[in-house]
Parts: sequence; structure tokens; C-alpha cells
Amino acid sequence: MTMQHPNKNRLLEYFYKEGSAHELQKTQEHLQSCPQCREYPEVLKATSAILDQLPTVAPEKNICDIILQDIAVSSKQSVQKKRTFSVMPFFQIALSIPFILAILYFIQNKLTGLSVWESMEKIQIINTLGSFGFVAVLFFLIGSFVTLSLAPVLLFDSENKTYLRKSYKLLWR
Ligand SMILES: [Zn+2]
Repeated sequence: MTMQHPNKNRLLEYFYKEGSAHELQKTQEHLQSCPQCREYPEVLKATSAILDQLPTVAPEKNICDIILQDIAVSSKQSVQKKRTFSVMPFFQIALSIPFILAILYFIQNKLTGLSVWESMEKIQIINTLGSFGFVAVLFFLIGSFVTLSLAPVLLFDSENKTYLRKSYKLLWR
């Protein structure tokens, strides 16, 4: 006799007497010598005993309408939830604009205080944009570069979605 344990499908077949006579015989022989494998059929037996005790109840006549009504209510709710959520990003952007401007002003102050700034100011594009414009362009170039380099990761990686989404949000706060 082999000591290979039958898998759950074999045990289910044995429980419902569905397999071939030969297979059933094999499983039965194994079960007689293996308490470990006897556990699963015993659980099935106990479950089926509990189910047998439950009374059979005929469904109400309008059960279909009740279920459909319930579905209609819950789908309405989910649509409303989505709507309030979609407004949030606009608020976030509006709130972050003064914050970004404050950061730009701060960087501009630091940059113009540097001794290198005098020679940088002579460069045509920096002269045209002005110190604040230059800082703003630099800031948004870096910002969009980071966003673009993150975008493929965000699109294709669904496993660590929440973690990346958090880091993505932090970038724009
Ligand atoms: Zn076994």
C-alpha cells in the first residue's frame, strides 16, 4: 500500500461516492490507516449534518423585486461616492498653488543670494525669464520629469499600488 495521501478532490469524490470503484477502494484503504486524511471527510460529514437540520423555506413571491430594489439602491450610492471623490483633486490643486508659489519664492531668494547668480543672470534665457520665472520653469520641469518617470510604474504595477500612490501624492503636496 502506498503512503501517498489522496488530495481534496479524491476525498470529495470518496465522500460523494463519485469516483471509479477502484479509486474509491484505494481511498478507503488509505483512510483506514491515515487519521490525518480522515479529518476532511469528517468535517464534510459534520457540515452536511448541520445543513440537513436547517428547515427548507420557500422563498417569498416578490423575492426577485426585493433583490433588484436592493441592487438599485446600492449602485446609486456608489455613483454618488465617486462624484464627491472626483471633486477632491481640484481642491487639492487649488490649495497647493499658494504653497508651490511660496516654495518658488523661497528658492528664488536663496538662488539670487548665491554669488554664482550674477554670472548665471548673464545667460540669455535666464535674463528673459527673470529669476522667479527661471525658478518656476526649473521647478515644473523637474516636477513633470519626476511625474513622467513615475507614470509607467504607476500604470503597470498594480501589486504595490497603494504605496506608490502615496509617494506620488507626496510629490505634489
Ligand atoms: Zn493520508
